Amino acid sequence: MNTTITDVFASKVFDEAKMKDYLAKDTFREIEKTIREGKPLNPKIAEAVAHAMKEWALSEGATHFTHWFQPLTGVTAEKHDSFLNPGKDGDIALEFSGKELVKGEPDASSFPSGGLRATFEARGYTAWDPTSYVFIKNGVLCIPTAFYSYTGHALDKKTPLLRSMEAIDIQARRVLKLFGYDDVKTVKTTVGPEQEYFLVDKEYFEKRKDLMYTGRTLFGAACPKGQELDDHYFGKINDRVQSFMKDLNLELWKLGIQAKTEHNEVAPAQFEIAPIFSTTNIATDHNQLTMEIIQRVAKEHGMVALLHEKPFEYINGSGKHNNWSLSTDTGVNLLSPGDTPQKDAQFLLFLVSIIKAVDEHQDLLRLSVASAGNDHRLGANEAPPAIISIFLGDQLTNILQAIENDDSYTEDANDRMRVGIDILPKIKKDSTDRNRTSPFAFTGNRFEFRMPGSSASIAGCNIMLNTAVADVLSEMADILEKADDFDATLHNLIKETYKKHKRIIFNGNGYDDAWVEEAEKRGLYNLKSTPDALPYSVKPENIALFERQHVLNKEEVLSRYEINMEEYTKIINIEALTMLDMAKKDILPSVSRFTKTLLETISSKKALGIYASYEEGFVQKISSKLKEAYTALEDLDSKTKTFSEIEDFEKAAFYVRDEIIPAMDALREPCDVMETLTDASEWPFPTYGKLLYGIM
Ligand code: ADP
Ligand code: MG
Repeated sequence: MNTTITDVFASKVFDEAKMKDYLAKDTFREIEKTIREGKPLNPKIAEAVAHAMKEWALSEGATHFTHWFQPLTGVTAEKHDSFLNPGKDGDIALEFSGKELVKGEPDASSFPSGGLRATFEARGYTAWDPTSYVFIKNGVLCIPTAFYSYTGHALDKKTPLLRSMEAIDIQARRVLKLFGYDDVKTVKTTVGPEQEYFLVDKEYFEKRKDLMYTGRTLFGAACPKGQELDDHYFGKINDRVQSFMKDLNLELWKLGIQAKTEHNEVAPAQFEIAPIFSTTNIATDHNQLTMEIIQRVAKEHGMVALLHEKPFEYINGSGKHNNWSLSTDTGVNLLSPGDTPQKDAQFLLFLVSIIKAVDEHQDLLRLSVASAGNDHRLGANEAPPAIISIFLGDQLTNILQAIENDDSYTEDANDRMRVGIDILPKIKKDSTDRNRTSPFAFTGNRFEFRMPGSSASIAGCNIMLNTAVADVLSEMADILEKADDFDATLHNLIKETYKKHKRIIFNGNGYDDAWVEEAEKRGLYNLKSTPDALPYSVKPENIALFERQHVLNKEEVLSRYEINMEEYTKIINIEALTMLDMAKKDILPSVSRFTKTLLETISSKKALGIYASYEEGFVQKISSKLKEAYTALEDLDSKTKTFSEIEDFEKAAFYVRDEIIPAMDALREPCDVMETLTDASEWPFPTYGKLLYGIM
């Protein structure tokens, strides 16, 4: 029998439909209020909800529950407890209390806290986020939770994300009130993340220490065919991958994740999956789950999914497109141009607010996507540059330009609108052209932030985006609330904001070198590497912004800075150590053995008076590269030792960037050349050819 989407969709989720079935009417109404409007949950309701969840979970065969959270490691964490409790007369009882639902206390001492939690105070708490449904994964009832310390500091990514959503909700509603929306109870940011990944055959993966330890290849010569024919992008999906995708979709649907679009990406063995958008915290939870389930289902198909930003040199890496908008609980998308002049004015106000937010907080957006892996993409000719800019498209740019110049825009006399006191044409819906090179592109009814790395949690960039926009909206509301002449003030605000921040708008080709120069002239940031970008998070004005919007306090910002810098440093150190291991134990010995074979052949041939030109030629070439590799290896070895003695986390990050990474490159180069000179049967691990075409 064929399973249909409706059969399985959300079957593993305790969603509102199931709550309705399992809960008394008034209990259901209470929990609904909590979910929709963020009303606090009283303990009695929690008790009833917990009981219902347990009944449902047991009926689905679950045995355990866990508080599922998102520590600062970037992955998700869970610690399982079974429902088992001692019952009467040596019996067992299956229990799950309201307290257990609402609050957990995992030992937090081994999660990174950047000094927020002294080791003697290992206690961390998890608290249920009722706006994200409870679900069952591998027989475990998972409760999405926020994770914080004894002192109340956020130790995770969800807490500040929820706070940033609250900030933007408050400010957007202030603005909307001025436009006469009295019925709006909440404004939520919506996100649809497109996720890229690679698939490689498990057998080849397991022969590569670099893939196993670091998720990317640290050695490897280019294979004859890369992505130059563009024959993979949107190509026919091969049968093995298709059957993987079928199972993947099924598993995602069961968890209520609305997997919608799937296709081959640009590079060989690269793919993309995109769900239908949802509110940001759910989209974030779902994206974390999606990454986990892609990996699990791939294994079941004898493959390994690589979520790393740059698994292979010479071909495109992987990113994540964060499609972002704002929506009211009454169903209005605030980034959709309206049907009436009044709505268009409101649209333009939100638009220029975002333009201002992105311009003023380029540094925060940039650093929110900074990681060791993403450093390989940003600025390379495949992903947006490290420079933040906005693509608006010609029509919107012209309209804003006309407002700035006090022109009345006269494209079509019948097609006009009023913005405040000006006369302008009606904004056509879906009028934007496609631009693939912009890091932050308006795509008709949302912005698409294209810089995030494929393995990153989208919490990071959305925290920044929400906070920055919330702060600007609060400024706008301050001005407009005080205005005597609302229309005139609004008009002026749109005009002046655009004028002041239009330098961030760039509708051209972001991959072009000329843009780098132009951006510099405009005074835009070009923060090339992670250690360049991260220190901006602790600038006093940024700390002030986070505090003003109640998203992060100073200690939280400082601790996150330290954690992120250390993570960068540790990742590169692991890569360096892995390279040393592979070079010393695998590559150099193999090449040396092959040289020996060649030398033996040379002497046997010579003894018989036969030419040994190939052997002699290759021995020379290989030996000179072997010498280079050996020198580079010694250099990298000594640098990793120097590095291990650096205590200061900032110095360490800059040391790996400036010393370790160049030393790694210097080791890779001769090794990759040797790969092209050595007998394939001698080469110690699968080549790019096998990795990239091995699943086809
Ligand atoms: P493309 O590849 O053309 O950019 P996709 O269909 O792959 O488009 O992905 C677009 C994503 O944007 C989807 O996840 C979609 O649900 C999402 N999206 C659409 N409208 C909104 C919105 N208002 N807010 C957030 N995301 C949205
Ligand atoms: Mg896309």
